[in-house]
Amino acid sequence: MKIDHEKCVRCGECVDACPFGVPVIEDDQVVIGANCRFCGTCEMTCPTEAITFEKDN
Ligand code: SF4
Ligand code: SF4
Repeated sequence: MKIDHEKCVRCGECVDACPFGVPVIEDDQVVIGANCRFCGTCEMTCPTEAITFEKDN
């Protein structure tokens, strides 16, 4: 998954939505860790379309 940090408003929706607890907010930026299962839930949840489905993070 790829995060567009310009679009991201740090709402935390992706953090709450991920069934595997992968996204975290660190230093005011969303970080998607290596244990992402590419399920697409966060992409669908993000209100600003900041997350796109690309395997190379
Ligand atoms: S794609 Fe799925 S596993 Fe990966 S961060 Fe998003 S919600 Fe979590
Ligand atoms: S859901 Fe989207 S806007 Fe909200 S913190 Fe996650 S990436 Fe940023």
